Amino acid sequence: MAEIITRCAIIGGGPAGYTAAIYASRANLAPLLIEGMQPGGQLTTTTEVENFPGYPQGISGPEMMEEFRLQAQRFGTDIRLGVVTSVDFSSRPFRLTLDNGDIIVAKTVIIATGASARYLGLPDEQKYMGMGVSACATCDGFFYRNRTVAVVGGGDTACEEAVYLASLAKQVYLIVRKPALRASKVMQERVFNTPNIKVLFNCNTAGLYGEEVVEGARLIERKGEAEERSFDLPIDGFFLAIGHTPNTTLFQGKLDMDGNGYIKVESPSTRTSVPGVFAAGDVCDPSYQQAVNAAAAGCRAAMDADRFLIED
Ligand code: NDP
Repeated sequence: MAEIITRCAIIGGGPAGYTAAIYASRANLAPLLIEGMQPGGQLTTTTEVENFPGYPQGISGPEMMEEFRLQAQRFGTDIRLGVVTSVDFSSRPFRLTLDNGDIIVAKTVIIATGASARYLGLPDEQKYMGMGVSACATCDGFFYRNRTVAVVGGGDTACEEAVYLASLAKQVYLIVRKPALRASKVMQERVFNTPNIKVLFNCNTAGLYGEEVVEGARLIERKGEAEERSFDLPIDGFFLAIGHTPNTTLFQGKLDMDGNGYIKVESPSTRTSVPGVFAAGDVCDPSYQQAVNAAAAGCRAAMDADRFLIED
C-alpha cells in the first residue's frame, strides 16, 4: 500500500477528466488522474464523433479519447488505471482509497466520473444479459450481422445506435414510448431515411422471451388507452438506449446531489458543496451531456482548483 500526495486528484478518464488534466498540468498542479474501469469513458463505445469542433471529417470516439489522453500526458499528468473505492472529504487534505489499497492524499479533487447507460428495470434484462440484451451497439452489434434487433429509446443515442445497427443487421426496430422522437432533426432524418429501420411509436416493452437467448420482445402499444394491444416482436437482440444515470454512488452522503443523483455545482463554477472538491461533465450535467461541454467543464474545474489552491 502506497500513499501518494498530490495537489490535484482527478477521478475519471473521459473528456472532462482529460481536459481538466491538460489545464491542471499546464498550471503546474502536477495532477494525478485515475482512469477507472473504462478509460476514455462513454466515447469509447460510440462510433463516429461528428460534432466535436476541430474534426471536420469526424473521428472515432476511441481515437479522440486517445488524443485527449496523449495531450494530458504530454504536459506531465500522472495517469493511473484503477478504481476509487472510497473517498473521505471530511477534512483536508482529502483521502481517496484505490482498489489496490493505495491512498491518494489530495489538496483538491476533480470528479469527472461521468454517467452510465440506464436499463428499463425488467427482470428479463438481467436474465438475458449478454444473451441478447446489450446497452452498447458498438460493442455488440457485430454479433447481429444479418439478424433482427430492436433498440429502445427515442433520443440521439437510440437513433445513432439504430443507424449503426442497420448497417450490420437485416432489420432494426426502434421502440419508442411516445408518438415522436426526441432526437435532433439530423438524427431523425437518418433514421427515417434508413430503409431497414422501422420505428414502433407508442410502444413499451413488457418483457422478453426465448429458450436460452432472446427470441423476442413482448410489447404493449398505446398502454392505458382504449386501443391498447399487446404483441410479440421476434428479435435476436435487444439494445437499450434510454439515457444515463450519473456515476455518483461513491459520493452519496458526502456531496449535495439533485433528486436524480447528479452532483450539484455552483454553476457556472464547478464548485461542489465541499470546498476544494469540484465536479465536471456528465456527472453533474443532466441537460447537455456532450463531449464538448464535458471538456469545457473540465477546463473550468482545473481553473477553479488552481484558484482554490492560490487562495487557500
Ligand atoms: P435522452 O435522455 O435524450 O433520451 C432518452 C430516450 O429514452 C428518450 O426518448 C426517452 O423517452 C427514452 N426513455 C427513457 N426512459 C424510458 C423508458 N423507461 N422506457 C422507454 N423509453 C425510455 O438520452 P440520450 O442518451 O439519447 O442522449 C443524452 C444526451 O446526449 C442528449 O443531450 C443527446 O442530444 C446527446 N447525444 C448526442 C449525440 C450526438 O449529437 N451525436 C449522440 C448521443 C447522445 P421520452 O422521449 O419519452 O422521454
